[in-house]
Amino acid sequence: MNSTIVDFPAGVVHGSGTVLQVVPLGERVGVITDRTPFHPVDPTWPDQPADAGTLDGATLLDCLVGAVADDGTITVDTDITTRRGDPSHEWVVVHVLEPGSAPAVGAQVDLQVDAERRAALSRAHTGCHVSALALNAVVAGLWRKEVVTDGIGNPDFDRIALAESRMTPDAARDTYRLGKSLRKKGFDTAALLSDLDGIREQVSAQVAQWTAADASVEIEVSGPHLADLRNWCCHVPQGTFRIPCGGTHVTSLRELGSWSVDYEQPDEHTLVAVTKVGYPG
Ligand SMILES: [Zn+2]
Repeated sequence: MNSTIVDFPAGVVHGSGTVLQVVPLGERVGVITDRTPFHPVDPTWPDQPADAGTLDGATLLDCLVGAVADDGTITVDTDITTRRGDPSHEWVVVHVLEPGSAPAVGAQVDLQVDAERRAALSRAHTGCHVSALALNAVVAGLWRKEVVTDGIGNPDFDRIALAESRMTPDAARDTYRLGKSLRKKGFDTAALLSDLDGIREQVSAQVAQWTAADASVEIEVSGPHLADLRNWCCHVPQGTFRIPCGGTHVTSLRELGSWSVDYEQPDEHTLVAVTKVGYPG
């Protein structure tokens, strides 16, 4: 079996595919097609949830990643132990259905993603990356040592401190770890926490500036298959950001509609950035 050709990086929400395999998944079945517009949840970095939608009119229960070995055995989602993208396996999108809705192998099926939900998840995902990069810019002066930098030369706080990222329609929660290892890298955590309101204002001003400049967004792909590497790229007046990313996105910051961020501090070692985007009402 070949790795699935994926159309979601280009923003596609509808298409058709040929059924290559139907695999039992406990009480459910997994349908693997040659290509799909569906975005599956990533088992190792589950930031953006799976698309919702239908396969030949039947509602998907989930959409997962599968890894197929040479002998045809398939492991799915968090049961996968092979390193992500390992060329010894084929990486496939698994559309999860009730057993009664499974199509026959060889059938051509209609694949329809819930477009409204996808659009809201794309806004959330772009909004979260922009939020993170604006935070990089605002806290750039709080580093006392040289560290890895982002696309426009700011110390990459997001890459260094991000522990978890979770998106829902039109919202994202990024959890940053402010522990000892961050302080050892030369970051002044106390200064960050002493002025979260001020930081929120500056981050908002930075995002507003990039949005006013009509910064464009694109997904750079190294190939058409699920396992091929993809980068989120955003062109701002100061340069181009590039973040490895398997999700879906809008094509410009103006498409986010509204944008806001709040910072929460559940404990002294954790900072959560809550980004909200979209069109109210
Ligand atoms: Zn991403």
